[in-house]
Amino acid sequence: MTDIAPNTIKETAPLRPFGIAPAACMACGTCSAGCPITGMEGFDPRKIVRMILEGRDEELVASKLPWLCTLCGKCEHACPMGINIVNMVRAARGLVDRDAVPGQIHKGVELCLETGNNIGLPGEDFTFIIEDVGTEVSETEGFEDFVPPIDKEGASLLHTLHNKLVNTQNEDLVHWWKIFHAAREDFTMTSENWEGVNWGLFSGDDESMRIIVGRIVEHMENYKIKHLMYPE
Ligand code: SF4
Ligand code: SF4
Repeated sequence: MTDIAPNTIKETAPLRPFGIAPAACMACGTCSAGCPITGMEGFDPRKIVRMILEGRDEELVASKLPWLCTLCGKCEHACPMGINIVNMVRAARGLVDRDAVPGQIHKGVELCLETGNNIGLPGEDFTFIIEDVGTEVSETEGFEDFVPPIDKEGASLLHTLHNKLVNTQNEDLVHWWKIFHAAREDFTMTSENWEGVNWGLFSGDDESMRIIVGRIVEHMENYKIKHLMYPE
């Protein structure tokens, strides 16, 4: 593991929403009481805050604790001092060597940077799936004129896509499109960088997260789109 200086998390975790430093923690335990996973494998948000305050960053980063957290934010909501626990957990995750990030999330971030989506689906496969599902919708009574809109300039809504809707759960895509069509929503998807799920959020990779969000902002500016639908 890369050497981590004590107090790195305390000094670098972004202080949001209230800008209150973790030192304001009173050790009251309200966060622990509100956390849905307190007690699981020794997890306790108050313990995480204490470890950070004591500069035990390396110990925290080497432990499973940051990865047990669901990032649900209930602890922060409950904390009377507005301590930024989620950001501290994310900062701890960001200090983990990328090849030690558990599960698929870092691999997904790498694929997203490289291909524009978390599963590395090639552009021609994306187009095939969108057209195929579009045909299925247009064969339904009442939706005969439906054509899935791609790269439409001036659309009102940008529909970013959860990769699983394109990969394995096409039926959810059908539901969304039928709702949009019935509501006469002027929406579009994009042919490139269509991924709407930013796993950099979960892996603690702020730089990759910034690039992936930036692509969506770029779409909205380039295609002059007013509203954004984000699947997560
Ligand atoms: S609720 Fe807030 S003040 Fe209380 S122990 Fe948790 S982080 Fe500290
Ligand atoms: S964000 Fe993490 S620590 Fe806070 S309540 Fe949710 S699971 Fe618990």
